[in-house]
Amino acid sequence: MARNRRKTSTRLTGRIVFPDNPSYNAARMEFNRRFSKFPRVIVFCKRTQDVINAVKWARERGVRLRVRSGRHSYEGFSAVNGGIIIDVSEMNKVKVDRTNRTAIVQTGNPLARVYKKLWNKRVALPAGTAPDVGVAGLALGGGIGLLSRKYGLTCDNLKQVKMVVASGRYGAKTIVANKKKHSDLLWASRGGGGGNFGIATAYTFRVRPISTVSIYRIDWKFGDLEKVLPAWQRWAPSVTNRLTSTIEVAAKQVGTIVSTGQLLGGSEELRRLIRPLLRAGTPVKVMVKTVPFIEATKFFAESDLNLEPKFKISGAYGFRPLPREGVRIIRDFLSKAPNKHAGVWSQSLGGAGSAVSRVSPTATAYPHRKAETIYELSARWRNDGEQRRNIRWVAGFRGALRPFVHGDYVNFPDLQIKNWPKAYYGVNFGRLKQVKRKYDPHNVFRFAQSIPVGKRVDQ
Ligand SMILES: Cc1cc2nc3c(=O)[nH]c(=O)nc-3n(C[C@H](O)[C@H](O)[C@H](O)COP(=O)(O)OP(=O)(O)OC[C@H]3O[C@@H](n4cnc5c(N)ncnc54)[C@H](O)[C@@H]3O)c2cc1C
Repeated sequence: MARNRRKTSTRLTGRIVFPDNPSYNAARMEFNRRFSKFPRVIVFCKRTQDVINAVKWARERGVRLRVRSGRHSYEGFSAVNGGIIIDVSEMNKVKVDRTNRTAIVQTGNPLARVYKKLWNKRVALPAGTAPDVGVAGLALGGGIGLLSRKYGLTCDNLKQVKMVVASGRYGAKTIVANKKKHSDLLWASRGGGGGNFGIATAYTFRVRPISTVSIYRIDWKFGDLEKVLPAWQRWAPSVTNRLTSTIEVAAKQVGTIVSTGQLLGGSEELRRLIRPLLRAGTPVKVMVKTVPFIEATKFFAESDLNLEPKFKISGAYGFRPLPREGVRIIRDFLSKAPNKHAGVWSQSLGGAGSAVSRVSPTATAYPHRKAETIYELSARWRNDGEQRRNIRWVAGFRGALRPFVHGDYVNFPDLQIKNWPKAYYGVNFGRLKQVKRKYDPHNVFRFAQSIPVGKRVDQ
């Protein structure tokens, strides 16, 4: 009898925040204020042992748990009502080995800190643009940014992950996954998405020497959409892989189209490379300059400023330029956007010699290797009364574009997508389920769109 009795002896360690703590409100908030959840406790871990204790504590008591780092999940997957949030954001050391071109990055680091620490040693990791996004969630889901076409996704540069996984009926332990040991877990950690298998505490990344880069920004008016978007879509995947670019079309009431990009090269070359774009429509502003790489990360971070606190975003991939009908759908939806904070954003990923496309769709858990571009359809608002209209607009927009785009990026999760396993994981879903069964057979790490242990998909 005694052997089957559930132990409740493990104590929480680290910085522990209960609801009666004055910092509870700040500690429970997600970046997307659409979600306001009330956990039973939040543990800010300082050491791996704190993470192990928190998982054991939750399992011994049957308390639901969520893993959190940068809090940027679009659908609030790192928060939970009545459960425990295990937060690694105070585990934020970075150690660079420039000779071997590797860096050990604890998973609590936001991207701005990663870029800065690596820049101090004049190396870089291909990663995302928003400064507060956590490297934890970003890398596990893929990680796209302005170095993607040359150096691949963040997860393509992940050589090793240290992870706390569930062990036995109530325990937890640390394992290290790399090419030699637990290689199936490393495979799943390269695009399989955050929160599915365990709690990553440290990543070892391959890093690349970097100094200056050249950046551009071109502005047009909304009326040029039908000329500019097709031109960008033809140009962006066909240009050298040293250049990764974006385009953002705001709601018609704002009336702007902005393309930005980064070249590993000089400004003369960049001026030459963007000529096909400059010939599209009538650019109203053009900026090209060469800057230290760290300045470029700040430039792209600024264009990511999010002024409205609540949002709904859906993502999709483009495998070829949109036909005229697709561009017309974008024009129509942006002409009747719910407010001026809605828009469409796209980034080049694949095409000519791209490091993203060179990897096979099954070599890592991230399957969308042959996509040329990725899209985000977004709506932002402030008051709850506006929520329904905004979410419906995004869903309608996604539905209308469906004939022309495919799937979704697991780091742009969307609860409205019914067949999300296919959308996020495509051919890799079966293998991800096997990895889940092996490392988390009791389904300790679960949320609305987590990889299931059994047949049932959603919960
Ligand atoms: C403003 C903004 C800009 C963005 N820009 C980019 C971009 O340029 N490129 C890009 O690729 N993506 C971008 N994203 C998407 C981003 O990659 C995802 O939101 C990512 O999941 C965020 O990770 P996080 O650690 O900040 O979030 P969290 O909400 O903390 O976590 C996200 C998911 O990962 C899990 N998780 C968190 N920490 C761990 C851990 N230590 N171990 C295991 N699982 C964990 C969580 O449980 C959750 O399911 C952006 C998002 C936002 C909101």
